[in-house]
Amino acid sequence: MKTVGYAAHDSEKPLEPYHFERRALRDEDVSIEILYCGVCHSDLHTAENDWGWTQYPVVPGHEIVGRVLEVGSGVTKYKVGDNVAVGCMVDSCLSCDQCHNGEEQFCREGMVGTYSGQDRISGELTQGGYSKHIVVREEFVLSVPEGLDLAKCAPILCAGITTYSPLRTWNVGPGSRVGVIGLGGLGHMAIKIAAAMGAHVTAISRSDKKKQQVLSYGAKDLLVSSDEDAMQAHANQFDVIINTIPVKHDFTPYIPLLDIDGTQVLVGQVGELEETNSVPLLMGRRRVAGSLIGGIAQTQEILDFCALHNILPEVEMIKMDQINDAFDKLKQGDMASRFVIDMSSLEV
Ligand code: NDP
Ligand code: ZN
Repeated sequence: MKTVGYAAHDSEKPLEPYHFERRALRDEDVSIEILYCGVCHSDLHTAENDWGWTQYPVVPGHEIVGRVLEVGSGVTKYKVGDNVAVGCMVDSCLSCDQCHNGEEQFCREGMVGTYSGQDRISGELTQGGYSKHIVVREEFVLSVPEGLDLAKCAPILCAGITTYSPLRTWNVGPGSRVGVIGLGGLGHMAIKIAAAMGAHVTAISRSDKKKQQVLSYGAKDLLVSSDEDAMQAHANQFDVIINTIPVKHDFTPYIPLLDIDGTQVLVGQVGELEETNSVPLLMGRRRVAGSLIGGIAQTQEILDFCALHNILPEVEMIKMDQINDAFDKLKQGDMASRFVIDMSSLEV
C-alpha cells in the first residue's frame, strides 16, 4: 500500500514528507488509517540519533490512533471501521516466558519497535505513526474504548502506559505518596493516573512555572528541585518517585526524598547518567529501578482505565507540517502537555 509520512533522513536535517510502501496485508494483519499521533520525546531522540541506533530514513511516532481499513483473513478481534490504537511495539516472538507473561516489551528475542525496528518476517525497517497508514498484526493492535476522545487519547499509548506500568509494579493505590519528576508528556500523565489511583501526588520540577497547571491535573503540591530547603523539608516523604528527566543527570538528590524502602523509577533518560552515591540508598534501603513502556494487555488496561476515570492527556493539536517547530518546543521542555498531530491534512 502506498502511503505518505514525515521522515528524518539524518540527524541534522528537519523531518520532511516521505512517500513509502506499507507491507501487503498478511492473514493476521490489520490495516489502519491513522487519524492522530502523539509526539513523544523518544521520537525526537530517535530523529536526532541521541541513542546511536537510529536507522534512516525513520518515520517516528508510537502514539497512534486510527480506524481499521482492512483486516487479514485470520483476524478475529477487529473489523473494518473499528477505532483502534498502536503503541510502542508492533511484534514480538509471542512464545517466550516474557511474552506469555504479557511483558512483550521484554521478549527474549527482542520486541519489534513501532519504528526503527526490524520486521520479523521480511526484515524491513518498521516505520511509525507520523504517516497516513500503518499495517500491524492484530495482537499488537489495541481497542479504543467508547467514550475516549479519539483526538486526545493518543498519548496514552506511550506516555500513559510508561507511567502506569511502574505505578502498578510498585503497587500504588489509595494513600500512596507519589512524586513525579519532569512535568512533560510522561510526567503530566503520571500525575493524572497516580491521582486517579488515589495517591497523594507531588510534582517535582525545575521551577514553579507549571504549578497551577499540574495542580489542576490532580497534584497536591509542586516541589522545586533547585530549592534545597524545600527538598530537605520533603525528605522521607515518598513511597514511589517516577523520574522522567530526558537528559543525562544526577538522580542522587532525589533519593533522600524517598521513605524507607521507597523506590525511584527511572523512565526518562535512556543512556549515561551522572555519577551517583550509595549513601542515601543504604540509609533507608531505598531503591533505584528502571521501567520500559508496558505490555500489550497492560496497555489495553490503561486505555480502559482512562475511559473509566475520564482521564485525557492535555494536548496541543498540530498539523503534520508543523512537526519541526513542535520538536523545537519539546527541546525547551516548558510544556506540561503533549503535541498530537492531526493527520487529516496529510494527503497520499
Ligand atoms: P518531555 O520533553 O515532554 O518532558 C520532559 C520533562 O523533563 C520536561 O517537561 C521538563 O520538566 C524536564 N526536563 C527537560 N529538560 C530537562 C533538563 N535538562 N534537566 C532536568 N529536567 C528536564 O518528554 P517526555 O515526557 O515525552 O519523555 C521523557 C523521557 O522519557 C524521554 O527521554 C523519553 O525518551 C523517555 N521515554 C521513556 C520510555 C520508557 O519506556 N522508559 C517511554 C517513553 C519515553 P520540568 O520543566 O517540569 O522540569
Ligand atoms: Zn514514547
